[in-house]
Amino acid sequence: MSTQELYSELVTRLKKTSLLASCSAVLGWDEQVNMPPQGAEHRANQLALLAGMTHEQSTSSRVGELLSQLDEADDLGPEGSDQRVIVREARRNYDRATKLPQRLVEEISRTTTLAQQAWVGARKARDYSQFQSWLEQVLNLKREEAEAIGYGDGQPYDALLDDYEPGATAAAVQAAFEPLRDELVPLVAAIGESSHKPNSSIVTRSYPVSAQREFGLKAAEAIGFSFDAGRLDIAAHPFCSGFGPGDCRLTTRYDEHHFPGAFFGTLHEAGHGIYEQGLNGDAFGTALGESVSLGIHESQSRMWENLVGRSHPFWEFFYPQAQQAFPEALGNVPLDDFHRAVNDVRPSFIRVEADEVTYNLHIMLRFELEQAMLSGDLKPVDVPAVWNETFTRYFGITPEHDSDGCLQDIHWSAGLLGYFPTYALGNMYAAQFFESADRDLGDLSDMFRRGEFAPLKDWLRKNIHQQGKRYHAQQLVQHVTGEPLSHAPLMRHLNNRFKPLYELN
Ligand code: ZN
Repeated sequence: MSTQELYSELVTRLKKTSLLASCSAVLGWDEQVNMPPQGAEHRANQLALLAGMTHEQSTSSRVGELLSQLDEADDLGPEGSDQRVIVREARRNYDRATKLPQRLVEEISRTTTLAQQAWVGARKARDYSQFQSWLEQVLNLKREEAEAIGYGDGQPYDALLDDYEPGATAAAVQAAFEPLRDELVPLVAAIGESSHKPNSSIVTRSYPVSAQREFGLKAAEAIGFSFDAGRLDIAAHPFCSGFGPGDCRLTTRYDEHHFPGAFFGTLHEAGHGIYEQGLNGDAFGTALGESVSLGIHESQSRMWENLVGRSHPFWEFFYPQAQQAFPEALGNVPLDDFHRAVNDVRPSFIRVEADEVTYNLHIMLRFELEQAMLSGDLKPVDVPAVWNETFTRYFGITPEHDSDGCLQDIHWSAGLLGYFPTYALGNMYAAQFFESADRDLGDLSDMFRRGEFAPLKDWLRKNIHQQGKRYHAQQLVQHVTGEPLSHAPLMRHLNNRFKPLYELN
């Protein structure tokens, strides 16, 4: 077979596998949005069947043969060509999928299912001891996974991180986080001491749900999410699921007495959705039609949610519409008071409720503990004490029970170690991309004041979305911004936004 024949057989197989995986995505979305409770068991069977078929296809020995022959081929185009990128990423996925013994995959699946049940109970009872031995088992399995995958000269954590943020290492993440933490801790403390507090009760007045939905749809459409190629529905845990070209599903949840939850949640998921809708549909199933990493995905959602959606210029455009939509809650509230209320910063125990400034510290704490747990330096029995001690150092407050502390997140029970850093990386990437876009496009603030969001969306599409996985995250940052990843743009953004709001100098 010629190289081109091998290559096109590989692409046909990749596309088929992705098509199958996207069927699971439809069922997964339906499970969260529409499925009646009694459908759960049958749905689990459907999803398990598809997962097995997808795994079988992606690890088939024929894919291995095609890749070995393509690895040897010298007529596949130059380094960095489309074909080479697609083969490189296919090789990466194949290696990851085939390096794990079937026994380990099944054991991780079984153990994390049970660990999650134990975690739910432990969190409810505020009793870490119910979860401790499960955490120990999950850690052992994840260590085994890291060994099976390998991590070169690095550390076991790298092998796990690489699943979510290809190419990233713990050392590189640490180097990016440390200077960020050193500047964040004093900023959080200074904001805490400021006597210039926002009136946060503005956003907990009555906001009728139907008006929230309408206003959220309008904003998501205005920033560039296409409802001809997507939907917004309600789910208990908001998410975005891109099924494939032309169909991307968003979900949110509404609370009549908390405006920011659904509104910024919608902008966040719409940011993910704009990325999915911006991917090259013709390349579906190959690396060139896929998002780079969780961190880069998160950079898109955080950019629209925070950099754009919580900015003063954004509200200069939208606030009159918000006042019309919510006349009772906002009729007499000046724009500046509202803007300050949606930028309320205060240390809190729960990560998912955290504001833009303190959020990153929640992540750094988890990143430190995860590394120490995986290396064995931190024993599961000591996790609550170390959590609380570190939390107090960063935030100046101490959780009263473990459900507000080390039991709050599902991730460890689900085996998602190495996942947390991608959230804070997303914030850093977002700020760095945003500075570059602002430089390239002129004054973004002025555009937002006029309700013009297309230039930023088009810039993101061209520089990030349409690139697929051509570059790994760190290379993409370098390529798009001309600089390696740095904490500086994020700190500049946070200082520029929050120092004036809290009258700090
Ligand atoms: Zn997100």
